[in-house]
Amino acid sequence: MRNGEISFWSSSIGAGVTRAALQGDADVDITIVGGGLTGLWTAYYLRQDFPDARILVIESRFCGFGASGRNGGWLSAEVPGNRARYAAIAEDSGRDGLSANRALTATMEAAVAEVLSRIGLEDIDCRARHSGVLTIARCPAQQARLVEEIRDAQRLGATGVELLDAEAVQRRIRVDRAVAAGFSPHCARVQPARLVHGLAAAVERSGVRVVEETTATQVEPGQVTTDRGIVTTGQVVLCVEGFTVELPGRRRSLLPMNSAMVVTDPLSDLQWDEIGWDGAELLGESAHAYTYAQRTDDGRIALGERGVPYRFGSRIDRDGRTQRRTIAGLVRAVHEMFPAAASAPVAHAWCGVLGVHRDWNTSIIFDRRTGIGSATGYVGSGLTTTNVAARTMVDLIAGRDSYLTRLPWVDHRSPRWEPEPVRYLGVAGLYAAYRFADRRELRSQSSRTSAVAGLADRISGRA
Ligand SMILES: Cc1cc2nc3c(=O)[nH]c(=O)nc-3n(C[C@H](O)[C@H](O)[C@H](O)COP(=O)(O)OP(=O)(O)OC[C@H]3O[C@@H](n4cnc5c(N)ncnc54)[C@H](O)[C@@H]3O)c2cc1C
Repeated sequence: MRNGEISFWSSSIGAGVTRAALQGDADVDITIVGGGLTGLWTAYYLRQDFPDARILVIESRFCGFGASGRNGGWLSAEVPGNRARYAAIAEDSGRDGLSANRALTATMEAAVAEVLSRIGLEDIDCRARHSGVLTIARCPAQQARLVEEIRDAQRLGATGVELLDAEAVQRRIRVDRAVAAGFSPHCARVQPARLVHGLAAAVERSGVRVVEETTATQVEPGQVTTDRGIVTTGQVVLCVEGFTVELPGRRRSLLPMNSAMVVTDPLSDLQWDEIGWDGAELLGESAHAYTYAQRTDDGRIALGERGVPYRFGSRIDRDGRTQRRTIAGLVRAVHEMFPAAASAPVAHAWCGVLGVHRDWNTSIIFDRRTGIGSATGYVGSGLTTTNVAARTMVDLIAGRDSYLTRLPWVDHRSPRWEPEPVRYLGVAGLYAAYRFADRRELRSQSSRTSAVAGLADRISGRA
C-alpha cells in the first residue's frame, strides 16, 4: 500500500512540477498566491474581466499540491460554515438573515452547474459525473437528524432534496445497517487532481503566467516577497487555505484541519453486484465524525474521514503521509459499510489539510485600501466554494456590487484561534467527543442526538 505521495489522484496522473519557478524580480498587475482551485479559478475569471492585465500565479510546490489535489471529489452544493451565524452576520448589517441564507443555498446550487459547464467548455477530462449525493443514516438518532437537516435545507430553499427509506436506499446502494438516506441532485463526482490539472492548463492558455516551486514569504501592499525574487504588484489575492498559518502574522488566523483518505483496488463485478451503487452517487453519512466516499471512475471505493484531526502547533503533513492508526480506522470504515469489499486490498492512503476559522465560517475579503484579498475557511466543502469565492473576488476587485458580494461571508472576519496547547486540546477533545457520541448512537435505539455531541458543538463554536 502506498502512503502519501500527495494523493492517489495525484500520483495516478503523474502530477508534479511542470512549470518553471520565478526567475528573479517581476512586475505585474495582480498576483495570486497559491495554485489550488481558489487561486486558479480566481485567475480564470480575472482574465475574462481584465483581458489585458498581467496576472501571475505563484505556487510553492505544484498546482494541485494542496487540498485541491487530494480531496474526496465531491463537487457539492453544501454551504460551509454555520447557518445561524451567517444569519446573524446579515442581520448585524441590517439585512434579513433568512434571505441571506437562502441566497447562499441558491448560489451554491448554481455553482455546481457553473463548474460543470466550465469543465465542459474547457474540455477538462476530470471524469465528472453529475450523480447527486446520498447521506446515509445508520441508526435512529442519525435518521432523526437527517429528517431535521432535510427540513432545514428545504426551508433555506434547497431544491430536489428528498428522504429515501431503507428500501429505496437498498435499491441504489447496499451500505450495512442503512435505515434511510437523504438525496440531493446538486453534487457531482470528480477526479480532483485531473480537475486542478485541467484548470491550470486552461488558465495558462488564457495568458496567465503560472510559476511553481516559488514560495511567497511575505505579503505587503504592492509587493510579494518570494524565495525567488520580489514581485511588485497592484493587487494580491491570498489563496493558500490551510497553509495560511505558515505566512508571517497569520499563525492563529486559521486552523489547518486534517482529512485522510484510502482507496481500494478496483472491485470485481461480483463485489459491485453485491454493493450496487450503479448511480455513482457521492456518499456521506449523518454521523458526527462522518465519512465521505465515492465510487471512482475505475471501480474503486475511495473513502475519507477526519483521522487525527489536527497536529500540535498547526504542523502540516509531509506530502500527504498519514498515520497508521488513521489508515486502520479508514479501512475499518470501508469494511463496516461495505462487507462485500472486505477482501479488496487498499491501494493508497493519504491526507491533506483544509482551513477552519475559529467560528467555522468561510471568509472572502478584499481590502481596497491595501489591495490585498484572501479567500479561506471552506472547512470540508471547498470544491464548489472555491469557484464561488473566485467569482466573488473578481467582483470585489472590479468594484462591482453583485449578489455574490452581498453574501454574508464577504468581508467576514473570524476571531483568532486560541494559543497552544488550548487549540490542540480543544480540537482533539471535540473529535474524541464526536466519536464517543457516534458509538453511543449506533448502539442505541433512541432517536435523540447524544448530549455529548451537542455539548461539543456548543463549546467548539460549531453550533
Ligand atoms: C482529504 C480531503 C478531502 C476533502 N474532500 C472534499 C470534498 O470531497 N469536497 C469538497 O468540497 N471539499 C473537500 N475538501 C476541501 C477542499 O479540497 C478544499 O477546501 C479546497 O481544495 C481548497 O482549495 P484552495 O485552493 O483554497 O487550497 P489548496 O488546494 O490547499 O491550495 C493552496 C495552494 O497554495 C500553495 N501554497 C501554500 N503556501 C504557499 C506560499 N507561501 N506561496 C505559494 N504557494 C503556497 C500550496 O502548495 C497549495 O497548492 C477536502 C480536503 C481534504 C484535505
